[in-house]
Amino acid sequence: MTPPRRIVIAGGGTAGWMTANLLAHRWPLMSIELLEAPEIPTIGVGEGSTPSLKRFFEVLGIAEAEWMPRCHATYKANIRFVGWSPDAPADAYSHPFTTQLDLHTIDAFFANCRNRRGGYDVPTDPGTFLLNGALADAGKAPLAPPSFPFKIDYGYHFDAALLGMFLRERAVARGVVHRPAKIVSAVRHENGDIAAVCTERGDVVPGDLFVDCTGFAGLLLQGALGVGFRSFADNLFNDAAVVIPTMPTEPAAPPVETRATALSSGWAWSIPLQSRVGNGYVYARGYLSDDAAEVELRGHLGLLDSDVAARHLRFRTGQVAQHWHRNVLAVGLAQGFIEPLEATALHLVLNTVEKFMRQYEEGGFTPAKAGAFNDTIRAMFERVRDYIVAHYKLNTRTDTAYWIDNRAHDCLSLPLRRILDLWYRHGDLAAEFAADPDLTYFSAESWHCLLAGYGTFPPPRADQRDDVDFHRANGVEAFLHGCSMNFPSHADALARHTATASAGA
Ligand SMILES: Cc1cc2nc3c(=O)[nH]c(=O)nc-3n(C[C@H](O)[C@H](O)[C@H](O)COP(=O)(O)OP(=O)(O)OC[C@H]3O[C@@H](n4cnc5c(N)ncnc54)[C@H](O)[C@@H]3O)c2cc1C
Repeated sequence: MTPPRRIVIAGGGTAGWMTANLLAHRWPLMSIELLEAPEIPTIGVGEGSTPSLKRFFEVLGIAEAEWMPRCHATYKANIRFVGWSPDAPADAYSHPFTTQLDLHTIDAFFANCRNRRGGYDVPTDPGTFLLNGALADAGKAPLAPPSFPFKIDYGYHFDAALLGMFLRERAVARGVVHRPAKIVSAVRHENGDIAAVCTERGDVVPGDLFVDCTGFAGLLLQGALGVGFRSFADNLFNDAAVVIPTMPTEPAAPPVETRATALSSGWAWSIPLQSRVGNGYVYARGYLSDDAAEVELRGHLGLLDSDVAARHLRFRTGQVAQHWHRNVLAVGLAQGFIEPLEATALHLVLNTVEKFMRQYEEGGFTPAKAGAFNDTIRAMFERVRDYIVAHYKLNTRTDTAYWIDNRAHDCLSLPLRRILDLWYRHGDLAAEFAADPDLTYFSAESWHCLLAGYGTFPPPRADQRDDVDFHRANGVEAFLHGCSMNFPSHADALARHTATASAGA
């Protein structure tokens, strides 16, 4: 199937420019035009990624030394969750990105979790079983030397505005036309497809395919085509954020992890960049006013006496009923949003665009292809939502109505119920997920991190045994320590990129 000849992308946030680069890379002969309204700012947050951003740059052939210094980026090996479950064995736990090397330690982690579910008091802290957890603890970058025989996955932290500029430059260099213009309406063909978008200045921009990247405005898919929105508010209560950047306080290199700290009515992120720390409090307005949230975040950051400005944002969680309808594809916030706890938004952008290109190449705008595509993307959003919902459902905090209500509600999808039931009945999550891949979008490793990190275990039994701790029996600590000797410090890894970038400038 020939790709669409004229592609119009509406919106120049991270989603718009990622889409422009991916389309221009895969369909280099097509005409691609991106329109963005200069007076409507991008959301300006979204500074942590999953390993899919690494894949995005690999697909485009862009080296880390090219983009990381420009975007003040740092490495991200882990998310550290602090204070989510007072009943857990420790106040914080890690959710490291899994790597190929974890094959050597994962059995010990799963076995200890199984034994702990059986009442044996063995270590189950995820960060002590998985390489990226060990690297994060040691302040090392997850950059394996070329001779290292395992593939190491990781994510990044970056300045969203600088990343947008970098991606715009790259897309324009590949021939994407950038038109700063506000879209005010759409012209429809008789069959209902969009024929063109009209700008405030009176230009009419025709296209065969329109990609709606207009953020929460959802101008084309929801606005012009009237596609509905399915809210996730029943079990994801958060709908606002307050953001306050700070200067790095630590003299050494930035941490190799995002920190997610539970507060009274939500949680605060700390995202360490090279130039600053991104901080924000994601909360539910049903439980906390905007002013109170700002005060609480200032207190958390030690900024009660500071007049550094705060920015307030509102959002809604959920997804569109169809991500691809007629000749319009929605990408980014225009297609939906699940709150940023696991930083999955750009991951969903990449997967949506890649999946669309594959489906389109197979069958163009045929209803069968669009249907299959929509089913896949809808399920992806729902299963990511399930994993996030579990963080709230399983919390053991009793300090505010917010946490109690999050634990008390019964709005759980069937797949999520099945996973929790499996865990409580001592089932084998890895085997069940392999038998039914539709059950979850996250790996068995991730589910073990979450469930073990929350201390979702029965009380220890009276008859303990000393032969059921596979962390000790398998020498996991010494193994990970030895492996981590191969990795550079975060400071060295970042300095190396900066030196390469300066040499090439
Ligand atoms: C509090 C919060 C924290 C987040 N944290 C993370 C994170 O850690 N990791 C992550 O992956 N994601 C995160 N996200 C999500 C992430 O910010 C977005 O997915 C990402 O920035 C992409 O946004 P976007 O491009 O879809 O929309 P936007 O950035 O809002 O861009 C919309 C674009 O559309 C344009 N536009 C709007 N209307 C018109 C019009 N009429 N005509 C022309 N152009 C128009 C605007 O000018 C702008 O260029 C977070 C989101 C929130 C709310």
